[in-house]
Amino acid sequence: MIRWVDFSAVKRTVSLEAVLRHYQIPGLRRHRDQLQGCCPIHRGGRTDSFRVHLVKNVFHCFACQAHGNVLDFVAAMEQCSIREAALRLQHWFEVNASGSRLYAAPAGEQNQELVRKEEGSNLPLRFALTGVERNHPYLAQRGIDPATADEFGVGLYPGPGLMSGRIVIPIRNRHGQLVAYAGRALDDRPPKYKLPAGFHKVLELFNLQRAVAAGAKIVIVVEGYFDCMWVHQAGFPCVVALMGSCLSAAQESDLRRHFEGVVLMLDGDAVGRAASEAIAVRLLGWRSVQVIRVPDGSQPDQLSPSAIRKLLAELVARTKRPW
Ligand SMILES: [Zn+2]
Repeated sequence: MIRWVDFSAVKRTVSLEAVLRHYQIPGLRRHRDQLQGCCPIHRGGRTDSFRVHLVKNVFHCFACQAHGNVLDFVAAMEQCSIREAALRLQHWFEVNASGSRLYAAPAGEQNQELVRKEEGSNLPLRFALTGVERNHPYLAQRGIDPATADEFGVGLYPGPGLMSGRIVIPIRNRHGQLVAYAGRALDDRPPKYKLPAGFHKVLELFNLQRAVAAGAKIVIVVEGYFDCMWVHQAGFPCVVALMGSCLSAAQESDLRRHFEGVVLMLDGDAVGRAASEAIAVRLLGWRSVQVIRVPDGSQPDQLSPSAIRKLLAELVARTKRPW
């Protein structure tokens, strides 16, 4: 089904300020008609690298050089195409796109359901990348051992195309069907990750099928692919990754469908802490919602396996919950 998108309507009606609020980006300081703070795109520590011009409705990061309008910002945050960014903004802010019947329904639950149906699901891929090198030094450098690389199917893809020269990470849906590859750059030059344009990452939880098969009632939720593989390798196979720091409606319903509780183990930076808080509030009332405070400035895949075990053991001791 064709989904209409009115780029100029989105740019005209949605302010960057509202988008920053949507992402709950913390620590931005206002100075006249500008905001400045840490860049939420490359997540650097410099508190003055990211600038937003409120009147011009544009942003610029002096560290990673990301810049542009609301569409560019959302595309960078979600690692999606400009078109997909526009669709998401239309959805979040209920922009009345001309010619669109999608937004004719009144706002609220009913409308959201309509949009969700429109988004459908990610179709299984009809191919698998071949020649993926599992023994690449990058994986060793990130602490991923060959058995884990094999289990997750990750490695360097030397062939041509979008994923050329990147570490490819297969993403499977809840039925275990391959729906996309994420491609990680070997260095930190943006884009750090590439995803195929038609792929909706908000519809999947990375590693869901293995986490469900692990059979635990409580699932550990992390942000990134490598955090997920690392926690798995540390001996906790019931772990999923958000592929970002937002919990989408589809991801939330998958968590509720398969598990009785969550342990949030997001990054130990401002974005991760704020996201953790926002998600915990959203899941309030669920049987068990625990937050692990990852040490400042680190993310789960930078902790030693014993540090991960210790954090989780402390949690069990604190809450008296059988793991
Ligand atoms: Zn940046």
